[in-house]
Amino acid sequence: MHFFIILLCLFLPVHSAVAAVDIALRGKDPVRLEDVYQQQGVPYIAIEDALSAVGLKGHWNSISHSFKIKTKYGWAEISPASGFMKIAGEYYPLKEKPRFIDGRLRVTDSFILNQLAQLTGRSIYFRNIDPDVDNAPVKQSSNLEKLFAFLLNKKTDKNSSLIRAVAIDPGHGGLDTGVIASTGYKEKQLNLEVAEKLAKQLKMKLGIPIYLSRDGDYELTLEQRLQSASREDVDLWILLHAQAAFSSELSGVTLFIREEEMTQNIPDKEVEEPVESDSLILAKNISSALQESAISVRGIYPSSRLSLGRGNLPTVQIELGFLSNPEELQKLQSSDYQDVIVQALYTGIRRYTQLSKEKIDGVK
Ligand SMILES: [Zn+2]
Repeated sequence: MHFFIILLCLFLPVHSAVAAVDIALRGKDPVRLEDVYQQQGVPYIAIEDALSAVGLKGHWNSISHSFKIKTKYGWAEISPASGFMKIAGEYYPLKEKPRFIDGRLRVTDSFILNQLAQLTGRSIYFRNIDPDVDNAPVKQSSNLEKLFAFLLNKKTDKNSSLIRAVAIDPGHGGLDTGVIASTGYKEKQLNLEVAEKLAKQLKMKLGIPIYLSRDGDYELTLEQRLQSASREDVDLWILLHAQAAFSSELSGVTLFIREEEMTQNIPDKEVEEPVESDSLILAKNISSALQESAISVRGIYPSSRLSLGRGNLPTVQIELGFLSNPEELQKLQSSDYQDVIVQALYTGIRRYTQLSKEKIDGVK
């Protein structure tokens, strides 16, 4: 019997060498959390546990591959692939990236004391029971994390946040000229020029295959047009067009997505978080990138014509501008202006694919 007690005593220190923390909103009773991993004094606490300790709620969103936290400022979003917290379209840097350890997304003490305190609007009491414990697994390389994120996405069979290939459809071609400007400049030519420039940017900078539905001035059947977009590895479809109107006043870029993807639920207190469609998220990213480049955007609208093709494929049709507006026509014909548009389209697509820190880099 004594032997067992001695044994027990020998083992006790080992068992107590588990990372644990106390968390509380200032003035409330602290909650002891024991599902904690620690590395070099940095504790990693499961985000759900931390939230419930301070009276917040949130959940994992397998489409955006991020954890969403419900706050009075809107949804705050963190992701294991990003060193930023996104809230209301803005990105805030985190001291440490969230990590997946033992099947749960975890944040550090710095996140709890800074970001969570800000989100609750109250100061937070935090105590690390034993900062010397080191029980976290070796940190994965960022490449492995990316791969993990990618596989996790694929497993959910939802649109991944990393894209494998892009299909671009320059509208019209051949006898089908599209809109013709008063100068004789044809929409089909603009669409192709922009498509080729965009393809080059995406290929060069994202290093993924880009499929154009046409690479010259020829007509396509509907089937041929859909061919590039229906390839198995295509995760994104961009259709390029230009407009004309009776009024020569109208100008600016217009974005279209499928009708059924427009529905953007308003977050309700009791209802499950609304999920924006990938096409809408993509269109929003493109829209804001264009606006940042001082290109006016008329808005994001539903299009019934876009229901063709793979229904779940994130798709945006971009009307590059009005060939009926003399000023805009002149711009659209210039290679410099096309480059500005292409750069903005590329930026929007990249942000959509990465949901990452570029925005804040651009601000710096
Ligand atoms: Zn067109």
